[in-house]
Amino acid sequence: MRNLTMDQLIDRAKAQTVACQHCGAKVGEPCVRTDYRTSERTPVENFPAHHSRLKRADRIETLTAQAECEHLSWSGDEGPIAELGRMPLRWKCDECGLVEWRNA
Ligand SMILES: [Zn+2]
Ligand SMILES: [Zn+2]
Repeated sequence: MRNLTMDQLIDRAKAQTVACQHCGAKVGEPCVRTDYRTSERTPVENFPAHHSRLKRADRIETLTAQAECEHLSWSGDEGPIAELGRMPLRWKCDECGLVEWRNA
């Protein structure tokens, strides 16, 4: 077994925040390869994760980074809750004006 570099370990941790569509590994589980003779599944050791999984994790990380700012003060952007009769889905950052949809 070859030891992964620090960068690869970080990549692996990042990749494991999403499921792998290549090998079917779930969130939090390492990528696996299937032995074509015994169909035994073993975690991959020589590389952090399947390339497509890493790319997807990267993309999601970028999206999340864009969707959030460091400010903590947000207001509902759809009018007063009393008028809406529900929690707003669209929120606006009080400080930088960033708008974000939240369904919780
Ligand atoms: Zn995989
Ligand atoms: Zn902000």
